[in-house]
Amino acid sequence: MTKVFSSNLGYPRIGEQREWKKELEKYWSGKITEDELLKETKALRLQGLKKQQEKEIDLIPVGDFSLYDHVLDTSLMFGVVPTRFQNSGATSALETYFAIARGTKDAVASEMTKWFNTNYHYIVPEFDHVKPILTENKPLTFYKEAKEALGIEGKPVILGPITFLKLGKGYKDESFPKLLNTFLPLYIQVLQELKEAGVQWVQVDEPILGTNLTSSDLEQIKKAYETIAQAIPGINLIIQTYFESVDFYEDIVSLPVAGIGLDFVHGDALNALRQYGFPKDKVLAAGVIDGRNVWRQNLENKLGLLETIKQIVDKDRIIVQPSSSLLHVPVTKSSEKLLDPIIKDALSFADEKLEEVVALAKGLENGKASIVKELENSVQAIDTLNNSKYRKKTASQINPSELSADRALPFSQRISVQKEILQLPLLPTTTIGSLPQTTEVRKQRLKWRKGDITDREYEQYIEAETKKWIEIQEDIGIDVLVHGEFERTDMVEYFGEKLNGFQVTKFGWVQSYGSRCVKPPLIFGEVSFDEPMTVKESIYAQSLTDRRVKGMLTGPVTILNWSFVRDDISRYDVLNQIAVALRSEIEELEKNDIKIIQVDEPALREGLPLKRNKWNEYLDAAVYAFKLSTASVENSTQIHTHMCYSSFGDIFDAISGLDADVISIETSRSHGELISTFEDNTYDKEIGLGVYDIHSPRVPSKEEIKENINRALKTIPANQFWINPDCGLKTRQEAETIAALKLMVEAAIEVRNEQ
Ligand code: GLN
Ligand code: ZN
Repeated sequence: MTKVFSSNLGYPRIGEQREWKKELEKYWSGKITEDELLKETKALRLQGLKKQQEKEIDLIPVGDFSLYDHVLDTSLMFGVVPTRFQNSGATSALETYFAIARGTKDAVASEMTKWFNTNYHYIVPEFDHVKPILTENKPLTFYKEAKEALGIEGKPVILGPITFLKLGKGYKDESFPKLLNTFLPLYIQVLQELKEAGVQWVQVDEPILGTNLTSSDLEQIKKAYETIAQAIPGINLIIQTYFESVDFYEDIVSLPVAGIGLDFVHGDALNALRQYGFPKDKVLAAGVIDGRNVWRQNLENKLGLLETIKQIVDKDRIIVQPSSSLLHVPVTKSSEKLLDPIIKDALSFADEKLEEVVALAKGLENGKASIVKELENSVQAIDTLNNSKYRKKTASQINPSELSADRALPFSQRISVQKEILQLPLLPTTTIGSLPQTTEVRKQRLKWRKGDITDREYEQYIEAETKKWIEIQEDIGIDVLVHGEFERTDMVEYFGEKLNGFQVTKFGWVQSYGSRCVKPPLIFGEVSFDEPMTVKESIYAQSLTDRRVKGMLTGPVTILNWSFVRDDISRYDVLNQIAVALRSEIEELEKNDIKIIQVDEPALREGLPLKRNKWNEYLDAAVYAFKLSTASVENSTQIHTHMCYSSFGDIFDAISGLDADVISIETSRSHGELISTFEDNTYDKEIGLGVYDIHSPRVPSKEEIKENINRALKTIPANQFWINPDCGLKTRQEAETIAALKLMVEAAIEVRNEQ
């Protein structure tokens, strides 16, 4: 290379104001045609490319854009269409594409799952019965588009064969080599065509290399890249890894390709580089700007890091880039008009990260003096926030080490105290927290946010809704009631708006799955309890009934995992600060006679590190934080927790270690598997497994519900079992919810009487 290049690995698809989402949803609801959708989204795509061009990124990724998910794009490019969607009567390829992602009335959607350790979800490829063919060379299409429209000499991005196949299902491990063999010729064709079109660099994403690999995986990786190298000599591939350092470093950097991309933010790439060096004939694409977080970086330190790398890799063989695609951060901080400048100055979203990358490339090329201003500005912005009041410990902040994280009595003893006080029947019934949020609820909230109705009017509306639902729950005969969470849009944002140290942004959206975006709050300062967050709603609901109303809050681990966390102190310190703040909230609830309190932890599993050897450290910290937030209550107060579906076998000890008196788990999508976990492990506390699926409007039959209950009771003793539906009633309509809950309670009573 003639100079130090700056590069990017992927740009957010959603637009500055989620225009992308709006267009997609208009198309799905039939308000615009396919042509209009394609036209509008092309404009958005070009806008993103143009910005990268204006910021003077040398290697601009093309083909990273997607109308839903890049893994699904890859599947369709190779004709990987599950049988149930073939001949489905779809009138265009795009219709089939969305059908696989979203399902149709005749065919269930393909499974969706988390993309590595991020909150982005991809559509799982189904490789059973496929005969792959190349339907369209998409990277080439996008390369040409960028060149024609903007004169950009783009860097096509393609999901690499190893990662693509490993993320899919429908084959046995031992047939991986065969599967790889059927796909390699197609990859070769795509790459060959790119080379012929004059493409200079291709980014082949292989994030799977950041997970734990076996030596037979390594063999397949070598085979794949050797085959490609032999077929297309002279093509400049960069094997791009991210989110973690790679196992088998020496083998990976010796693969027959032109460049290797490593993440210098997560994992320990620098150590490997120091220990084993780097091949003289390759380019190192160095991911030095965090693609997963929103904080501006101290560019002096980052330039220092690059200088260290330069001692091992020649300068003209270094590419400077973010650690991963910028898909995982919001588009630009410039839309945030209301932020305190101290915070705003210390932020860096996608657009700003590109500026950091370009400055660093320039600094490495021309020396520190060439970017003095950029260095100074970055250091100053960070210092200002670090020295601000936001990051000073306050006198009222409690040090976790002064608090006990253990309940006074062990579960086996405190449960009898609870049973005595709560007087619940065998197989008590409850729900997971939220109740149907009608469009009217959302309308009222919007009016209130805009100032069209007063605080009091909004509060009265929420109260009326709560009252209506307390009566409904009483009529149905549910044993432990909920207030319904009508005041919450989102289970993390709600707490983010109320705790000290958090900031909710206006446009800080990132794609979660399909058109769905989330807006993680920023944890920018010391987290502490300010004032009660859920107490008023709980007291009100409890005042309406003689039955018990459960207090309802989001747990510390979930709040951490679904926020953008300050990077100047350890994540675990932040986690403990959240836990201490929630502990105050729980104590407030208890003081107000709320005797059952549920602390939701749906994202506990999500925070698991990619590498197994780091699991224990994380799980220990997560369990400690949960206990820290819940341990101070009386023995007679019952702590519940809730988790969404995930496999539990491998984290069973941690789940049990939370020491929650009752856990409810979303079950519908995995009944058998979950129950067998409880066969293999003894769980001594109480548990509720969702007894019907709430993900569709269909009202289950009483028999079905009873069957689910009885199946669970074969493994779990009746005096430990709770009866509840799965989570997510918020998304359902009122009528279907009432009908289903009625049947659930009838089923519970019948089973109860049979015991
Ligand atoms: N209490 C929350 C609710 O029912 C739990 C949400 C969840 O499971 N993710 O909406
Ligand atoms: Zn859930």
